[in-house]
Amino acid sequence: DGEGNVVASNTPDPHDSSLRPRRMDEMVGQRDVIEKLKIAIDAAQGRGEPLGHILFDGPPGLGKTTFATVIPSEMGTTVQMANGAGIRAPKDLLPYLTNLGEGSVLFIDEIHRVPKPVEEYLYTAMEDFRIDIVLGEGVNARTLNYDLKPFTLIGATTRAGMLSAPLRDRFQIREHLGWYSLEDLCEIVQRNSVKLNLPVDDDSAEVIADRSRSTPRMANNRLLWVRDYAQSKAGGKVTADICEAALDMIGIDNLGLDKQDRGYLDTLMRIFAGGPTGLDAIAHTMNVSSDTLEDEVEPFLLRSELIVRSRRGRMATQKAYRHLKKTA
Ligand code: ATP
Repeated sequence: DGEGNVVASNTPDPHDSSLRPRRMDEMVGQRDVIEKLKIAIDAAQGRGEPLGHILFDGPPGLGKTTFATVIPSEMGTTVQMANGAGIRAPKDLLPYLTNLGEGSVLFIDEIHRVPKPVEEYLYTAMEDFRIDIVLGEGVNARTLNYDLKPFTLIGATTRAGMLSAPLRDRFQIREHLGWYSLEDLCEIVQRNSVKLNLPVDDDSAEVIADRSRSTPRMANNRLLWVRDYAQSKAGGKVTADICEAALDMIGIDNLGLDKQDRGYLDTLMRIFAGGPTGLDAIAHTMNVSSDTLEDEVEPFLLRSELIVRSRRGRMATQKAYRHLKKTA
């Protein structure tokens, strides 16, 4: 954010891939999802068929991409990664579809962003492993049927509600990824601290987990910052106090909120008298996109009961006023 505040951001970190679990057994939490997927993988392999198409939804940083990488590795197959925002027309999808190997995986992140014509193209690809390519234009146009190798589409979205019903229904497996418990986050912090060669004790892990907004990606980012801080300011020693000081320094408070989260609450309370007010008004005032607020900021504020959403707009709760030490 221009203030060296990368640790608070929700964007993947270059260290992200080194901390990302490579096998399902390395994943922490999401037990019910993992159990169901293991059964589906086992059964598909037993039948010698590709795994059914899978849709993951949930807030950012909870493991959608991680699942999309561990599933193919469990199946011993390859994965191609695409992003819905980058697929503007059916032709953008072609290279992915024609490159598919038998039983391989195509992962489309932010699948709610593919435009309607692409979505329709996906229907036959998913259902019949076939696409119709139109060559030429007008009276000279010819349709070419192209058979695809049977494959598995894994879609991820932060907005399941934005997916059309026909697309949603073509996913045989639909899983919602929920928030992580404190216990799970502590375990992620501790395992990753070992990978980072700076093991942390229980109390330190708890401080980091506590301030990680129930999100593994945040836990990793906070841990990486604590490591930098400890190495530069505390001779590489990590204690609960050092974790608190490190996180205080980058503006992460005891609820795990960062500057942007508090900026949202402050705008809602100060400019809009606590609401109700529309998302766009808050976004314009803060000069950030409403998508960012809706995807990255609001889910945790809602979960923490710091805001409520009603038909008339967003409202700050008493808890939010207490947290920011303001009076309604
Ligand atoms: P986005 O939608 O923003 O891409 P995401 O839901 O795909 O987010 P991931 O990229 O999969 O999130 O997860 C972020 C990081 O959190 C991963 O690199 C990984 O290190 C860690 N992580 C996610 N889920 C787990 C888990 N279940 N166990 C351990 N670490 C996890």
